Amino acid sequence: MSLVESAHESVRSRTLLVRSLQFVRPLKRQIAGISALAIIVAALGVAEPLLLKRIFDALGARASITALVVLASVLLGLLAARTALEALLNASTWRTRLGVDYRLREALLGKLGVLPLSYHQRESVGGTVNRVNRGIDGYVNAFSEIAFKLTPALAYLILATVALFRLEWRLAVIVLAFTPLPALIGVWAAREQTERERKLMQRWTTLYSRLNETLDGIRIVKSFAMEEVERRRFLSGQREGNAIVERGARTDATTSALRGFAAILARIAVLIAGSILVSRGQVTVGTLVAVLGFVGALLGPVQGLTDVYQTLQRGTVALETIYDILDAPDTVADVAKPIKLADARGEVRFEGVSYSYDNGTRVLHDIHLHVTPGETVAIVGPSGGGKTTMSLLLQRLYPLDAGRITVDGVNIRDISARTLRQNISAVYQDIGLFNDTVRDNIAYGRPTANDSDIEEAARMAFAHDFIMALPDGYDTVVGEHGSRLSGGQKQRIGIARALLKDAPILVLDEATAALDARSEAHVQQALANAARGRTTFIIAHRLATVVNADRIVVLRDGRIEAIGTHVDLMHQGGYYAKLVNGQMGGMLLSNAA
Ligand code: ADP
Repeated sequence: MSLVESAHESVRSRTLLVRSLQFVRPLKRQIAGISALAIIVAALGVAEPLLLKRIFDALGARASITALVVLASVLLGLLAARTALEALLNASTWRTRLGVDYRLREALLGKLGVLPLSYHQRESVGGTVNRVNRGIDGYVNAFSEIAFKLTPALAYLILATVALFRLEWRLAVIVLAFTPLPALIGVWAAREQTERERKLMQRWTTLYSRLNETLDGIRIVKSFAMEEVERRRFLSGQREGNAIVERGARTDATTSALRGFAAILARIAVLIAGSILVSRGQVTVGTLVAVLGFVGALLGPVQGLTDVYQTLQRGTVALETIYDILDAPDTVADVAKPIKLADARGEVRFEGVSYSYDNGTRVLHDIHLHVTPGETVAIVGPSGGGKTTMSLLLQRLYPLDAGRITVDGVNIRDISARTLRQNISAVYQDIGLFNDTVRDNIAYGRPTANDSDIEEAARMAFAHDFIMALPDGYDTVVGEHGSRLSGGQKQRIGIARALLKDAPILVLDEATAALDARSEAHVQQALANAARGRTTFIIAHRLATVVNADRIVVLRDGRIEAIGTHVDLMHQGGYYAKLVNGQMGGMLLSNAA
């Protein structure tokens, strides 16, 4: 890494650390309380060797038994108080740690919820979950090291140094001469530890995003008999990660052995110098015992202080992950004062709308479409033509490149995303069922709906009868993504869900694709009912669905080629007429370009 790069990195680390105080600041009173308690514990720790000195000196002076008993009782009391306070300290630090953890989760989940679809399509679910968890754990660990160990370590260091110099300055100088050693060892290990943390974060993110996809698509994995390949892929990733951990463990073990060695050296030096001083009668045995007591106890806090640097480094890696999410640009964020759209009439206009996804290929070119309230518009055209994209743009799930879309004459950029989407019910071929009851899945867009509303929506979607035949009726749990239901059943639940939401604008994107002929006839009727009084966009390949629409839009390669009624378009004899003439079994051949 070049000097410029590392300078740049340290500026970024500092900025992130300062920014992260936003999660800690609300807990500052708790942290102050804990620090005060920790200082008391540190002071008790300093008192301990001093008391030992008294006891040894009393022994040397052949003091009375009573005096010894008193001293021993004080020591016992001191130890008991310290142990009790340490327990209290422990419990309180956990509370604060959880407080920080909770605030981080609150912020991250909030952000993940509002980020545009494009973010989630780029990042995999498993990877994001892993990054959220590891990022939060890493930061909270680093935070507690610093918040809870720094103050007592400093307090102990100052008090112990003062005590040492008051006991015997020559021995104090020897002890202090050894204190930089753990610091140097810490600096030696720090870079490897930070690098390790970064590599592990990457490795686990990749590994767990793939695992998540594998389990999510287990049906495909099995039907292609790829379990073994996936297992091997996972294990090899796991081994690579473990190798990093193992190398790191070696560094850690070496570091801690070197530190132990430094402590031994310090003790031996004090012991030799102390013995000489004792033999000359310049210090008492009690003083030597006390100083030896400080040697062991002092190197710990010094180590803690020198670890701060590397803890900060590790914390920064965690923060990078956290702020990667928190700082991800929200390209579809609400404007400062968004308009709340109450009950829209459902007038929709696309005015010169163009759009390209991240890869830059233009998917929609200058789309103009005016849909009046209550109108049903079918959008047909070859697959990949941009039909679904239009429906996603209407919900402001992606930002437009050019042009604007209005609902009731208001630019959707200016409407709060929440109220905009409350006014639109969308049913996609992938219904998006949760592993929950049928009832809760239907009520997803309107959690306050009562049982009779839910049942009515299900009847309208011709779902009630099959739901009643399920083992627990409306209380049947449908499995992940509705895996315990057939494709047609899922679609009817999706339609019931949209009907219950009762929004003025309805988008049906291939919503009837998985229905058999008989249920389709029913659902056509249900959809016709549902579309009445609502602005409806139907993206469908079924002729029956399309011919009844008020208008049909032919969309090809991202351009509107024709708009008109079934009769108009048949007269024009263009793409649509060809499609209808080439129809098979009621299906428009959508791919026949
Ligand atoms: P249709 O609904 O007419 O089949 P889509 O709107 O789904 O068409 O897709 C239009 C084009 O945009 C296709 O070429 C498709 O590959 C591309 N596309 C769709 N979604 C994304 C995405 N998330 N990222 C990049 N390209 C996409």
